[in-house]
Amino acid sequence: MFWKAKDPVCGMKVKKEKAAAKGEHKGKAYYFCSTACKEKFEKEPEKYTKGS
Ligand SMILES: [Zn+2]
Repeated sequence: MFWKAKDPVCGMKVKKEKAAAKGEHKGKAYYFCSTACKEKFEKEPEKYTKGS
């Protein structure tokens, strides 16, 4: 199985097992292509999770 996730910050598709960074928000897991994206997400999680 290929678990793919969407980096909520830049919109890139990332493979979960190869994600550079992983984060959580309100009990949901998010995967990021880079730690830079994770940092952005953690600063403003609401901005990136709205509408989902
Ligand atoms: Zn990214």
